Amino acid sequence: MLASDLHVHLDGSLRDVTLLALAKDAGLIPATADADAFVRRLRFRPGMSLRSCLTRFDITVGLLQTRRALERVARELVCDCYMDGVRHTEIRFCPVLHTREGLSSDDAVMSVLRGAEQGIGEALASAPADRISTRVIISVLQGMSEEEARELVDLAIGLIDFGVSGVDLAGDEALFDPARYARSFARAAEAGLGVTVHAGEGGDAGNVAAAVELLHADRIGHGVSAASNTGTMSLLADRGIAVEVCLSSNVHTGAVESLAGHPLVRLADAGVPVALATDNRFFSATSLSHEYELAIKEAGASQELIARSVLLSADAAFLAADDRATLRELYRVSLGPASAE
Ligand SMILES: [Zn+2]
Repeated sequence: MLASDLHVHLDGSLRDVTLLALAKDAGLIPATADADAFVRRLRFRPGMSLRSCLTRFDITVGLLQTRRALERVARELVCDCYMDGVRHTEIRFCPVLHTREGLSSDDAVMSVLRGAEQGIGEALASAPADRISTRVIISVLQGMSEEEARELVDLAIGLIDFGVSGVDLAGDEALFDPARYARSFARAAEAGLGVTVHAGEGGDAGNVAAAVELLHADRIGHGVSAASNTGTMSLLADRGIAVEVCLSSNVHTGAVESLAGHPLVRLADAGVPVALATDNRFFSATSLSHEYELAIKEAGASQELIARSVLLSADAAFLAADDRATLRELYRVSLGPASAE
């Protein structure tokens, strides 16, 4: 099955072996360290809370401070996604976090774009007829000042022609303050960037509505709590705002207690467009195909819901209309007779 991954964090999606190599190079762990134990210690566990999950990024972000490291993880991420059937990947990260050793934010983004381009080249080397694309989404972090957010949005706008196609608001939702970022995100939307906002992950349905009303969100990351409010579900359904559903991640952060209780089906039944995504391939030890499997086996999704999610992962991509249409057709054909069309 082919689909897009619209919600994947660069710094949460390194290969195990790359993380180990970078950690050893940095002297973070001895060359003789037990690799499995290191990886195991970093992985998310069910119910560990959003805040605890976020602290794990300190390690990975610390290891991604050079052009070389950023290029490498972006290249590998695109290749790994391709091998998993992902034909369009939207990689998100906050470039300011990668400037501790002298890179500028612009350098950091360009490194990721270069790595992604190399990844496409590598993926297509053995299958030149395949279609594959990537875009970068620049994340503003909860708690940043208005000025910091504006700088990141300006950076994203300046790099639209290089492969940046959206902005995101990420981080600890307890700090959610949409009014602070309203002007910056309005500018992003006016400039033609897609807007996605982490909301309703650790916070309530009100945050989801605020993301739509105040931040011009085209998509919502997680949106779990939207299911507890029929008005919010109607808002999303009526405006066609897609929810990027990341099942494993939601169990890890405690947004849901178990997949059996996940509101994926409730959202879809209410007409909310949903697209499955991975969030953090490394931390959650997952892949997009695994998330689709979980949706069917543990979250009660029907084949029809799966087909709708696959097609939506084309329709809701931050791509030009003709690229979305090409992608949709690719996915429609790959779904075969099970397609929702
Ligand atoms: Zn996320």
